Amino acid sequence: MTTEELLALADKTIMGTYKRFPIVLVRGSGVKVWDSEGREYLDFVAGIAVCSLGHSHPRVAAAIKKQAEILTHVSNLYYIEPQIHFAGFLVENSFADKVFFCNSGAEANEAAIKLARKYAHENMAGDRYELITMKDSFHGRTLATVTATGQEKFQVGFAPLPEGFKQVPFNDLSALKDAITDKTCGIMLEPIQGEGGVRIPDDGYLWGVRKICDDREILMILDEVQVGMGRTGSFFAYEDYGVRPDIMTLAKALGNGFPVGAMLTRDRIASAFTPGSHASTFGGNPLAMAAALASGETILSDGILENCKKMGAYFLKRLEELRSRHSVIREVRGKGLIIGLELATGGDEIVRKCMDKGVLINCIGGSILRFVPPLIITESDVDRAIDVLDGVMEGG
Ligand SMILES: *Cc1c(COP(=O)(O)O)cnc(C)c1O
Repeated sequence: MTTEELLALADKTIMGTYKRFPIVLVRGSGVKVWDSEGREYLDFVAGIAVCSLGHSHPRVAAAIKKQAEILTHVSNLYYIEPQIHFAGFLVENSFADKVFFCNSGAEANEAAIKLARKYAHENMAGDRYELITMKDSFHGRTLATVTATGQEKFQVGFAPLPEGFKQVPFNDLSALKDAITDKTCGIMLEPIQGEGGVRIPDDGYLWGVRKICDDREILMILDEVQVGMGRTGSFFAYEDYGVRPDIMTLAKALGNGFPVGAMLTRDRIASAFTPGSHASTFGGNPLAMAAALASGETILSDGILENCKKMGAYFLKRLEELRSRHSVIREVRGKGLIIGLELATGGDEIVRKCMDKGVLINCIGGSILRFVPPLIITESDVDRAIDVLDGVMEGG
């Protein structure tokens, strides 16, 4: 089929839930992807912070292939060997004692919401079920997670939304304190807001949230779906801010492209879930676990975190130089390799022009360019992206 035929068939058969660029990506390797016409792109989207080790990482591909030939799927009615190994890996390398596996970020957050309610029901006095979340947050598209999400545009038309969520502004500890009532069981937030525009927490903010949770004896839930697994230069973003959550969710980069999500917590809280409390047919599936273990071990052993920190600092520096040359750039902000560039105008045209010049980037909220490249990028990849951005902003 020609590209045009593929696009026509897609529009005829696939629900129109995405606004897509008119290219078909067919192959990837490292930081590059190719479309159906053979054009090459430098991929600074990486599946939206998913392919942190780059596309078709040999170790992850080999793990998937090997596992597919041994055992692809069995039910959680039985113990699953790769699941046991990967749970052990996560527990060993995080604050957590226990893990629940699922298949996506929304599902991980859904599980966290259910666990918080169940824990509160069994362990907190009174009737506590309410979660406080942040304005401009993003937690997923299921009914509960889209209600937790502090962006109305994702909620329009889906009423009635589930009860028990309310939002306060990010980076505002006094608003957070004021919002807590005798119904509140926890606070759920992203350490760095991703979809909301790459918003970095102020110094001491997450520590302040932790303190409020401790003082009020409520749960702190960190959604690390976008920033966990090395994106900030630490394995988990909470390490950067000197806090430990009570519950944490992961997905995106967890399987380097293989769909997998996880919800992690301490023993004390995990015990609120007993057989039958929650489940997922595919959760912790052997194939997903093999992909995730290979990804996680590679991130921790191949100098990936060091490269992320180094390249993040270099990229930020080069973007600041760009800002000094182009007044259309309002602000550059980021940590590790999650970087946002706020424009004084709309960003869609810039994204399209960069794509035409072979660099994939992404625009959120209409005017913020987001860069979440693979953590394996080199200085010359950064230079190439900067050159293209520079040319495009120059009017080229
Ligand atoms: C992407 C994302 C989600 C949703 O993940 P899905 O896998 O798309 O369900 C949730 N929270 C954050 C912070 C995200 O970035």
